[in-house]
Amino acid sequence: MTTIEDTNELVGRGNREGAALFRDWFSELEQTAAAGGQAAYVFVMGSANEILKTFDLPVVFPEITSLQTAVRGVAHEYLDEAEDYGYSPDICGYVKADVAVQLRGGDHPMGQLPTPSISVLTNACNTYIKWAEIWERMYGTPMFTIDVPGTRQAGGQTWSGNSDFEADRRYVETQLGELITLCEQVTGTKFDIDKFREVLGYANTMSRCWNRVLELNAARPSLFNAVTDGTVYLGVANTFRGTEEGARYFERLVEELEHKAANGIGQDMDEQYRLIFVGVPCYPIFRRFNELFSEWGGTFVNSTYLWFASGGTNRGFQYDLDNPLASLAEGMLVSVRDAMDSMFHQDVIVGEMAKEFDIDGVIYHPIKSCRTVSTGLADSRRQMTEDLGIPSLFIESDMMDRRVVSEAQMKNRIDAFFEGLASRRRQAAAGTAESHE
Ligand code: SF4
Repeated sequence: MTTIEDTNELVGRGNREGAALFRDWFSELEQTAAAGGQAAYVFVMGSANEILKTFDLPVVFPEITSLQTAVRGVAHEYLDEAEDYGYSPDICGYVKADVAVQLRGGDHPMGQLPTPSISVLTNACNTYIKWAEIWERMYGTPMFTIDVPGTRQAGGQTWSGNSDFEADRRYVETQLGELITLCEQVTGTKFDIDKFREVLGYANTMSRCWNRVLELNAARPSLFNAVTDGTVYLGVANTFRGTEEGARYFERLVEELEHKAANGIGQDMDEQYRLIFVGVPCYPIFRRFNELFSEWGGTFVNSTYLWFASGGTNRGFQYDLDNPLASLAEGMLVSVRDAMDSMFHQDVIVGEMAKEFDIDGVIYHPIKSCRTVSTGLADSRRQMTEDLGIPSLFIESDMMDRRVVSEAQMKNRIDAFFEGLASRRRQAAAGTAESHE
Protein backbone atom coordinates (compact mmCIF):
# COMPACT_ATOMS: atom_id res chain seq x y z
CA MET A 1 0.00 0.00 0.00
CA THR A 2 1.35 3.41 -0.87
CA THR A 3 1.04 6.36 1.47
CA ILE A 4 1.05 10.15 1.15
CA GLU A 5 4.62 10.04 2.52
CA ASP A 6 5.64 7.73 -0.34
CA THR A 7 4.16 10.14 -2.84
CA ASN A 8 5.85 13.17 -1.26
CA GLU A 9 9.20 11.41 -1.26
CA LEU A 10 8.92 9.94 -4.74
CA VAL A 11 7.29 12.58 -6.92
CA GLY A 12 9.91 14.87 -8.44
CA ARG A 13 12.80 12.78 -7.05
CA GLY A 14 14.16 12.05 -10.54
CA ASN A 15 14.49 15.76 -11.26
CA ARG A 16 16.08 16.55 -7.90
CA GLU A 17 18.56 13.69 -8.04
CA GLY A 18 19.25 14.27 -11.73
CA ALA A 19 20.17 17.91 -11.07
CA ALA A 20 22.45 16.84 -8.18
CA LEU A 21 24.21 14.22 -10.31
CA PHE A 22 24.67 16.74 -13.07
CA ARG A 23 26.43 19.07 -10.61
CA ASP A 24 28.59 16.13 -9.48
CA TRP A 25 29.59 15.50 -13.07
CA PHE A 26 30.71 19.10 -13.45
CA SER A 27 32.57 18.99 -10.12
CA GLU A 28 34.51 15.96 -11.30
CA LEU A 29 35.46 17.81 -14.49
CA GLU A 30 36.49 20.87 -12.48
CA GLN A 31 38.66 18.81 -10.16
CA THR A 32 40.24 17.07 -13.14
CA ALA A 33 40.99 20.43 -14.76
CA ALA A 34 42.48 21.79 -11.53
CA ALA A 35 44.71 18.73 -11.12
CA GLY A 36 45.73 18.77 -14.80
CA GLY A 37 44.28 15.25 -15.14
CA GLN A 38 43.25 13.34 -18.22
CA ALA A 39 39.78 13.47 -19.75
CA ALA A 40 38.04 12.04 -22.81
CA TYR A 41 35.85 14.17 -25.08
CA VAL A 42 32.94 12.24 -26.57
CA PHE A 43 29.53 12.67 -28.18
CA VAL A 44 26.05 11.50 -27.26
CA MET A 45 25.60 9.16 -30.23
CA GLY A 46 28.07 6.35 -29.53
CA SER A 47 30.06 7.73 -26.60
CA ALA A 48 31.86 4.42 -25.89
CA ASN A 49 31.53 5.42 -22.24
CA GLU A 50 31.64 1.70 -21.42
CA ILE A 51 35.28 1.55 -22.51
CA LEU A 52 36.28 4.97 -21.17
CA LYS A 53 34.79 4.29 -17.73
CA THR A 54 36.72 1.03 -17.60
CA PHE A 55 39.83 3.24 -17.77
CA ASP A 56 38.33 5.62 -15.14
CA LEU A 57 38.53 8.52 -17.57
CA PRO A 58 36.40 11.57 -16.71
CA VAL A 59 34.24 12.19 -19.75
CA VAL A 60 33.30 15.57 -21.26
CA PHE A 61 30.25 15.76 -23.54
CA PRO A 62 30.79 19.03 -25.41
CA GLU A 63 27.26 18.93 -26.87
CA ILE A 64 25.97 19.02 -23.28
CA THR A 65 28.41 21.65 -22.00
CA SER A 66 27.53 23.80 -25.03
CA LEU A 67 23.78 23.55 -24.58
CA GLN A 68 24.26 24.55 -20.94
CA THR A 69 25.56 27.96 -22.11
CA ALA A 70 22.21 28.47 -23.88
CA VAL A 71 20.14 27.28 -20.91
CA ARG A 72 22.09 29.76 -18.78
CA GLY A 73 21.35 32.57 -21.25
CA VAL A 74 24.97 33.28 -22.21
CA ALA A 75 25.39 31.24 -25.42
CA HIS A 76 25.44 34.42 -27.56
CA GLU A 77 28.66 35.56 -25.86
CA TYR A 78 30.36 32.29 -26.82
CA LEU A 79 28.91 32.23 -30.34
CA ASP A 80 30.07 35.82 -30.95
CA GLU A 81 33.54 34.97 -29.75
CA ALA A 82 33.84 31.96 -32.07
CA GLU A 83 32.43 33.94 -35.00
CA ASP A 84 34.91 36.77 -34.35
CA TYR A 85 37.60 34.10 -34.40
CA GLY A 86 36.44 33.09 -37.90
CA TYR A 87 33.73 30.42 -37.59
CA SER A 88 30.69 30.87 -39.85
CA PRO A 89 27.33 31.97 -38.33
CA ASP A 90 25.57 28.99 -39.90
CA ILE A 91 27.56 26.04 -38.58
CA CYS A 92 26.53 23.98 -35.54
CA GLY A 93 26.15 26.30 -32.53
CA TYR A 94 27.41 23.59 -30.18
CA VAL A 95 30.77 23.59 -31.98
CA LYS A 96 31.10 27.36 -31.73
CA ALA A 97 30.24 27.51 -28.04
CA ASP A 98 32.84 24.83 -27.38
CA VAL A 99 35.48 26.61 -29.48
CA ALA A 100 34.93 29.73 -27.37
CA VAL A 101 35.21 27.69 -24.15
CA GLN A 102 38.51 26.28 -25.40
CA LEU A 103 39.72 29.75 -26.42
CA ARG A 104 38.95 30.85 -22.85
CA GLY A 105 41.15 28.08 -21.50
CA GLY A 106 38.25 25.80 -20.52
CA ASP A 107 36.29 28.52 -18.72
CA HIS A 108 32.60 27.46 -18.73
CA PRO A 109 29.66 29.04 -16.83
CA MET A 110 29.34 25.86 -14.72
CA GLY A 111 33.05 25.49 -14.00
CA GLN A 112 36.42 24.78 -15.51
CA LEU A 113 36.65 22.05 -18.16
CA PRO A 114 39.74 19.86 -18.53
CA THR A 115 41.49 19.68 -21.90
CA PRO A 116 40.98 16.51 -23.96
CA SER A 117 43.53 13.70 -23.75
CA ILE A 118 41.60 11.64 -26.28
CA SER A 119 38.44 12.21 -28.32
CA VAL A 120 36.10 9.42 -29.36
CA LEU A 121 33.43 9.90 -31.99
CA THR A 122 31.19 8.07 -34.42
CA ASN A 123 29.96 8.89 -37.90
CA ALA A 124 26.41 9.48 -36.57
CA CYS A 125 26.90 13.20 -37.29
CA ASN A 126 29.53 14.43 -39.76
CA THR A 127 30.06 17.53 -37.60
CA TYR A 128 31.57 15.25 -34.94
CA ILE A 129 34.52 14.55 -37.22
CA LYS A 130 35.25 18.19 -38.05
CA TRP A 131 34.74 19.13 -34.38
CA ALA A 132 37.28 16.59 -33.06
CA GLU A 133 39.74 17.85 -35.66
CA ILE A 134 39.59 21.23 -33.92
CA TRP A 135 40.86 19.68 -30.65
CA GLU A 136 43.45 17.79 -32.65
CA ARG A 137 44.70 21.10 -34.07
CA MET A 138 44.47 22.97 -30.74
CA TYR A 139 46.00 20.35 -28.44
CA GLY A 140 47.30 17.51 -30.63
CA THR A 141 44.56 15.31 -29.10
CA PRO A 142 44.39 11.82 -30.64
CA MET A 143 40.94 11.35 -32.18
CA PHE A 144 39.34 7.95 -32.63
CA THR A 145 36.46 7.67 -35.11
CA ILE A 146 34.22 4.60 -34.87
CA ASP A 147 32.62 3.96 -38.23
CA VAL A 148 29.18 2.46 -37.49
CA PRO A 149 27.46 1.15 -40.63
CA GLY A 150 23.95 2.61 -40.88
CA THR A 151 20.77 0.89 -42.00
CA ARG A 152 20.61 0.44 -45.76
CA GLN A 153 17.11 1.89 -46.08
CA ALA A 154 14.37 3.38 -43.88
CA GLY A 155 13.26 0.82 -41.35
CA GLY A 156 15.88 -1.58 -42.75
CA GLN A 157 17.73 -2.33 -39.51
CA THR A 158 19.14 -5.87 -39.56
CA TRP A 159 19.58 -8.00 -36.45
CA SER A 160 21.81 -10.62 -34.93
CA GLY A 161 21.93 -13.75 -37.10
CA ASN A 162 21.68 -11.85 -40.38
CA SER A 163 24.94 -12.21 -42.38
CA ASP A 164 25.17 -8.45 -43.14
CA PHE A 165 24.64 -7.69 -39.48
CA GLU A 166 27.35 -10.15 -38.41
CA ALA A 167 29.83 -8.60 -40.87
CA ASP A 168 29.00 -5.11 -39.56
CA ARG A 169 29.27 -6.28 -35.95
CA ARG A 170 32.73 -7.75 -36.54
CA TYR A 171 33.77 -4.51 -38.24
CA VAL A 172 32.71 -2.49 -35.17
CA GLU A 173 34.31 -5.00 -32.78
CA THR A 174 37.68 -4.66 -34.54
CA GLN A 175 37.50 -0.90 -34.15
CA LEU A 176 36.60 -1.17 -30.46
CA GLY A 177 39.65 -3.39 -29.95
CA GLU A 178 41.79 -0.66 -31.51
CA LEU A 179 40.15 1.93 -29.25
CA ILE A 180 41.07 -0.14 -26.19
CA THR A 181 44.70 -0.23 -27.37
CA LEU A 182 44.69 3.54 -27.84
CA CYS A 183 43.19 4.05 -24.35
CA GLU A 184 45.95 1.84 -22.90
CA GLN A 185 48.56 4.00 -24.62
CA VAL A 186 46.98 7.31 -23.57
CA THR A 187 46.37 6.34 -19.93
CA GLY A 188 49.30 3.97 -19.42
CA THR A 189 46.81 1.52 -17.83
CA LYS A 190 46.16 -2.09 -18.83
CA PHE A 191 42.60 -2.90 -19.86
CA ASP A 192 40.78 -4.75 -17.06
CA ILE A 193 38.19 -7.16 -18.47
CA ASP A 194 36.52 -7.74 -15.07
CA LYS A 195 36.02 -4.03 -14.57
CA PHE A 196 34.71 -3.82 -18.13
CA ARG A 197 32.09 -6.46 -17.30
CA GLU A 198 31.07 -4.50 -14.22
CA VAL A 199 30.70 -1.30 -16.28
CA LEU A 200 28.62 -3.16 -18.88
CA GLY A 201 26.39 -4.48 -16.09
CA TYR A 202 25.65 -0.91 -14.93
CA ALA A 203 25.02 0.15 -18.52
CA ASN A 204 22.57 -2.77 -18.87
CA THR A 205 20.59 -1.59 -15.85
CA MET A 206 20.48 1.94 -17.22
CA SER A 207 19.39 0.89 -20.74
CA ARG A 208 16.69 -1.42 -19.39
CA CYS A 209 15.37 1.35 -17.12
CA TRP A 210 15.61 4.07 -19.80
CA ASN A 211 13.49 1.92 -22.09
CA ARG A 212 10.98 1.45 -19.25
CA VAL A 213 10.92 5.19 -18.41
CA LEU A 214 9.97 6.03 -21.98
CA GLU A 215 7.38 3.26 -22.15
CA LEU A 216 5.76 4.33 -18.85
CA ASN A 217 4.97 7.77 -20.23
CA ALA A 218 2.24 6.22 -22.39
CA ALA A 219 0.14 6.51 -19.18
CA ARG A 220 -2.77 8.90 -19.25
CA PRO A 221 -2.23 11.42 -17.76
CA SER A 222 1.42 11.32 -18.76
CA LEU A 223 4.00 11.15 -15.98
CA PHE A 224 6.67 13.53 -17.22
CA ASN A 225 7.31 16.10 -19.90
CA ALA A 226 9.59 14.61 -22.54
CA VAL A 227 11.17 17.98 -23.35
CA THR A 228 11.76 19.48 -19.90
CA ASP A 229 11.95 16.55 -17.43
CA GLY A 230 13.18 14.29 -20.21
CA THR A 231 16.23 16.47 -20.76
CA VAL A 232 17.23 16.08 -17.09
CA TYR A 233 16.98 12.29 -17.38
CA LEU A 234 18.88 12.38 -20.66
CA GLY A 235 21.76 14.31 -19.09
CA VAL A 236 22.25 11.50 -16.55
CA ALA A 237 21.77 8.81 -19.23
CA ASN A 238 24.75 10.19 -21.10
CA THR A 239 27.15 11.41 -18.43
CA PHE A 240 26.70 8.52 -15.97
CA ARG A 241 26.44 5.64 -18.44
CA GLY A 242 28.33 2.59 -17.19
CA THR A 243 28.53 3.85 -13.60
CA GLU A 244 26.90 2.60 -10.42
CA GLU A 245 25.40 6.04 -9.71
CA GLY A 246 23.80 6.11 -13.16
CA ALA A 247 22.35 2.62 -12.77
CA ARG A 248 20.92 3.38 -9.28
CA TYR A 249 19.50 6.73 -10.50
CA PHE A 250 17.54 5.02 -13.26
CA GLU A 251 16.27 2.24 -11.00
CA ARG A 252 14.96 4.91 -8.64
CA LEU A 253 13.47 6.89 -11.53
CA VAL A 254 11.53 3.83 -12.68
CA GLU A 255 10.32 3.36 -9.09
CA GLU A 256 9.06 6.97 -9.05
CA LEU A 257 7.31 6.70 -12.39
CA GLU A 258 5.74 3.33 -11.63
CA HIS A 259 4.39 4.80 -8.41
CA LYS A 260 2.93 7.72 -10.35
CA ALA A 261 1.41 5.43 -12.99
CA ALA A 262 -0.12 3.11 -10.38
CA ASN A 263 -1.68 6.05 -8.53
CA GLY A 264 -2.78 8.09 -11.56
CA ILE A 265 -0.42 10.94 -10.64
CA GLY A 266 0.31 12.98 -13.76
CA GLN A 267 2.25 16.17 -14.22
CA ASP A 268 1.38 19.33 -12.37
CA MET A 269 -0.98 20.53 -15.10
CA ASP A 270 -4.36 19.84 -16.70
CA GLU A 271 -3.33 17.60 -19.60
CA GLN A 272 -5.44 18.43 -22.64
CA TYR A 273 -3.25 17.62 -25.61
CA ARG A 274 -0.61 14.93 -25.90
CA LEU A 275 2.21 15.86 -28.27
CA ILE A 276 5.35 14.37 -29.77
CA PHE A 277 8.39 16.62 -30.18
CA VAL A 278 10.64 16.10 -33.22
CA GLY A 279 14.08 17.72 -33.33
CA VAL A 280 16.36 19.39 -30.79
CA PRO A 281 14.91 21.65 -28.03
CA CYS A 282 14.97 25.43 -28.14
CA TYR A 283 17.52 25.93 -25.36
CA PRO A 284 17.81 29.75 -25.52
CA ILE A 285 14.21 29.99 -24.19
CA PHE A 286 13.95 26.48 -22.80
CA ARG A 287 11.29 26.98 -20.08
CA ARG A 288 9.32 29.58 -22.01
CA PHE A 289 9.21 27.38 -25.11
CA ASN A 290 7.51 24.67 -23.07
CA GLU A 291 5.10 27.16 -21.47
CA LEU A 292 3.86 28.18 -24.92
CA PHE A 293 2.44 24.64 -25.10
CA SER A 294 1.59 23.97 -21.47
CA GLU A 295 -0.53 27.16 -21.28
CA TRP A 296 -2.90 25.37 -23.67
CA GLY A 297 -2.75 22.11 -21.73
CA GLY A 298 -0.27 20.66 -24.23
CA THR A 299 2.48 18.35 -23.03
CA PHE A 300 5.19 16.36 -24.75
CA VAL A 301 4.75 12.67 -24.05
CA ASN A 302 7.70 11.53 -26.15
CA SER A 303 10.35 12.97 -28.45
CA THR A 304 12.77 11.78 -31.09
CA TYR A 305 15.41 13.69 -29.10
CA LEU A 306 15.16 11.27 -26.17
CA TRP A 307 15.87 8.51 -28.66
CA PHE A 308 18.75 9.84 -30.76
CA ALA A 309 20.42 12.00 -28.08
CA SER A 310 20.61 8.93 -25.82
CA GLY A 311 22.58 7.26 -28.59
CA GLY A 312 19.77 4.78 -29.25
CA THR A 313 19.90 3.32 -25.73
CA ASN A 314 16.11 3.78 -25.67
CA ARG A 315 16.05 0.32 -27.29
CA GLY A 316 17.22 -1.14 -23.98
CA PHE A 317 19.93 -3.33 -25.52
CA GLN A 318 21.40 -5.78 -22.96
CA TYR A 319 25.07 -6.74 -23.18
CA ASP A 320 26.07 -10.36 -22.79
CA LEU A 321 28.62 -10.22 -19.96
CA ASP A 322 30.07 -13.61 -20.96
CA ASN A 323 31.05 -12.17 -24.32
CA PRO A 324 31.69 -8.54 -23.48
CA LEU A 325 33.56 -7.01 -26.42
CA ALA A 326 31.54 -8.75 -29.14
CA SER A 327 28.40 -7.78 -27.26
CA LEU A 328 29.45 -4.14 -26.89
CA ALA A 329 30.01 -4.09 -30.66
CA GLU A 330 26.54 -5.53 -31.22
CA GLY A 331 24.97 -3.04 -28.81
CA MET A 332 26.78 -0.14 -30.41
CA LEU A 333 25.67 -1.22 -33.87
CA VAL A 334 22.04 -1.63 -32.81
CA SER A 335 21.93 1.57 -30.74
CA VAL A 336 23.87 4.02 -32.91
CA ARG A 337 21.95 2.82 -35.97
CA ASP A 338 18.76 3.40 -34.10
CA ALA A 339 19.91 6.91 -33.15
CA MET A 340 20.69 7.68 -36.80
CA ASP A 341 17.29 6.35 -37.89
CA SER A 342 15.60 8.48 -35.21
CA MET A 343 17.16 11.55 -36.89
CA PHE A 344 16.84 10.61 -40.53
CA HIS A 345 13.55 8.68 -40.69
CA GLN A 346 11.37 10.60 -38.27
CA ASP A 347 8.19 9.64 -40.12
CA VAL A 348 8.84 5.99 -39.21
CA ILE A 349 9.71 6.86 -35.60
CA VAL A 350 6.67 9.11 -35.16
CA GLY A 351 4.55 6.26 -36.50
CA GLU A 352 5.98 3.95 -33.83
CA MET A 353 5.40 6.50 -31.07
CA ALA A 354 1.89 7.36 -32.26
CA LYS A 355 0.82 3.70 -31.93
CA GLU A 356 1.60 3.61 -28.22
CA PHE A 357 1.08 7.14 -26.96
CA ASP A 358 -2.41 8.16 -28.12
CA ILE A 359 -1.31 11.56 -29.39
CA ASP A 360 -3.07 14.69 -30.60
CA GLY A 361 -0.26 16.38 -32.50
CA VAL A 362 3.36 16.39 -33.63
CA ILE A 363 5.63 19.42 -33.20
CA TYR A 364 8.52 19.67 -35.67
CA HIS A 365 11.32 21.95 -34.57
CA PRO A 366 13.98 22.25 -37.28
CA ILE A 367 16.92 24.35 -36.19
CA LYS A 368 19.22 26.56 -38.19
CA SER A 369 22.50 25.23 -36.91
CA CYS A 370 21.91 21.46 -36.89
CA ARG A 371 21.51 20.22 -40.43
CA THR A 372 21.99 16.62 -39.35
CA VAL A 373 18.66 16.58 -37.56
CA SER A 374 16.82 19.25 -39.58
CA THR A 375 17.51 18.31 -43.20
CA GLY A 376 14.51 16.63 -44.76
CA LEU A 377 12.23 17.40 -41.84
CA ALA A 378 9.65 19.12 -44.06
CA ASP A 379 9.49 16.03 -46.31
CA SER A 380 9.30 13.80 -43.30
CA ARG A 381 6.39 15.84 -41.98
CA ARG A 382 4.58 15.57 -45.32
CA GLN A 383 5.07 11.80 -45.30
CA MET A 384 3.80 11.55 -41.72
CA THR A 385 0.69 13.58 -42.68
CA GLU A 386 0.00 11.30 -45.65
CA ASP A 387 0.54 8.13 -43.64
CA LEU A 388 -1.03 9.04 -40.33
CA GLY A 389 -2.98 12.28 -40.79
CA ILE A 390 -1.97 13.56 -37.36
CA PRO A 391 -2.13 17.39 -36.97
CA SER A 392 1.34 18.91 -36.88
CA LEU A 393 3.16 22.19 -36.46
CA PHE A 394 6.47 23.20 -38.04
CA ILE A 395 8.36 25.92 -36.17
CA GLU A 396 11.92 26.92 -37.01
CA SER A 397 14.44 28.41 -34.59
CA ASP A 398 17.72 27.27 -33.06
CA MET A 399 19.06 25.30 -30.14
CA MET A 400 21.77 27.89 -29.34
CA ASP A 401 21.43 31.13 -31.28
CA ARG A 402 18.88 33.52 -29.80
CA ARG A 403 19.24 35.78 -32.87
CA VAL A 404 16.98 33.38 -34.78
CA VAL A 405 14.54 32.65 -31.96
CA SER A 406 11.44 34.82 -32.24
CA GLU A 407 9.20 34.11 -29.29
CA ALA A 408 6.37 36.35 -30.55
CA GLN A 409 6.26 34.62 -33.93
CA MET A 410 6.39 31.23 -32.27
CA LYS A 411 3.56 32.12 -29.94
CA ASN A 412 1.32 33.15 -32.86
CA ARG A 413 1.94 29.88 -34.67
CA ILE A 414 1.52 27.78 -31.53
CA ASP A 415 -1.70 29.57 -30.53
CA ALA A 416 -3.13 29.03 -34.02
CA PHE A 417 -2.17 25.35 -33.86
CA PHE A 418 -4.00 24.84 -30.57
CA GLU A 419 -7.03 26.78 -31.79
CA GLY A 420 -7.10 24.32 -34.70
CA LEU A 421 -6.86 21.35 -32.33
CA ALA A 422 -9.62 22.75 -30.11
CA SER A 423 -11.87 23.33 -33.09
CA ARG A 424 -11.27 19.78 -34.37
CA ARG A 425 -12.17 18.49 -30.95
CA ARG A 426 -15.40 20.53 -30.83
CA GLN A 427 -16.38 19.31 -34.30
CA ALA A 428 -15.66 15.71 -33.34
CA ALA A 429 -17.75 16.11 -30.16
CA ALA A 430 -20.62 17.69 -32.14
CA GLY A 431 -20.43 14.82 -34.68
CA THR A 432 -20.61 12.27 -31.89
CA ALA A 433 -23.58 14.07 -30.29
CA GLU A 434 -25.44 14.15 -33.65
CA SER A 435 -24.87 10.47 -34.28
CA HIS A 436 -26.46 9.72 -30.90
CA GLU A 437 -29.58 11.80 -31.60
S1 SF4 B 1 23.81 16.39 -34.42
FE1 SF4 B 1 23.47 18.58 -34.88
S2 SF4 B 1 23.74 19.60 -32.90
FE2 SF4 B 1 24.73 17.57 -32.72
S3 SF4 B 1 26.86 17.92 -33.33
FE3 SF4 B 1 25.76 17.27 -35.17
S4 SF4 B 1 25.21 19.23 -36.17
FE4 SF4 B 1 25.72 19.69 -34.03
